[in-house]
Amino acid sequence: MQYPIKILEQVQRVDLEIGAIEGEGASVRSAIEVVEAALKSGEEALAALEAELESINNQRREITAHLEETNAKIAKATARIGEVKNDRELKALTREKSQGAKTSKNIEFELSGVQSRLDEKQTEADEKSGEVEEKKGELERLTSDLDAGKDSRESAVAEKSKQREELAADIPAGLLKKYETLRSNRGGRAVVLVKGEACQGCFIHVPPQLYVQLSRGEDELISCPHCHRILYVEDQPAPV
Ligand SMILES: [Zn+2]
Repeated sequence: MQYPIKILEQVQRVDLEIGAIEGEGASVRSAIEVVEAALKSGEEALAALEAELESINNQRREITAHLEETNAKIAKATARIGEVKNDRELKALTREKSQGAKTSKNIEFELSGVQSRLDEKQTEADEKSGEVEEKKGELERLTSDLDAGKDSRESAVAEKSKQREELAADIPAGLLKKYETLRSNRGGRAVVLVKGEACQGCFIHVPPQLYVQLSRGEDELISCPHCHRILYVEDQPAPV
C-alpha cells in the first residue's frame, strides 16, 4: 500500500490555514491585553496625580487663609494707627504692621511656590488624562475589530475543518496520529517536500539512498533522519 502523503500534505495545508485564521484572532486578543495593561497603569498614575493635586490644593487653601488672616491683622493695625493716643502705642502698632507685612511677604512667596507645583502637577495630570483617553479609544477600536472579525473567522474555520475532515477520512489512523504528534512537535509542519535533495523542514541534505527511495515512490513511509518529518518529493506518483 502506498501512503497517501499528498493527501496528508493537503491536510497539513488546511491545518496551517486554520492556524493562521485562529492566529489572527489571537493576535488581536494579545494586542487588547497590552492596551488593557497600559490603560490600567495609566489610570493608576492618573489617580495618584489627582491625589497629589488634592493635597497641594489643600495646602494652598491653608496658606491662602493664613495670608488673609495676616492681611486682616495689618489692616487692623493700620486703622488703629489713626486712633493712637501715645507714642508707645504708635510704636507697637507700627511694629505690628511691619512684622505683618514681612509675614505676608513670606506667605506670598510660599504661595507662589505651591502654585507653581500645582500648575506643574496639573499639566502632568492633563497629559496623563489624554493618554488614558487615547488608550480607551484604542481599546474600543481593537475590541470592535475582534468582534467584527469573529463571525467571519468562525465560519472560515468551520469550512476548513469540514474540508480537513473529508481529506483526513482517506488517511490511515496510524499515519494521522503520527502526523499530529509531529505537527505539534515541529511547529505545525510534519510533512515536508524534499527539494534539491534537502529536507525543506530542517534544510539538511537527505542521504542519497533515501532520496532514491523517495523518488521511486516506494511503499514505505520515509522520514527525515534529522528532523523526523515525513518526506515527499514533487514527482512522487499519485497515491493509490
Ligand atoms: Zn528534516
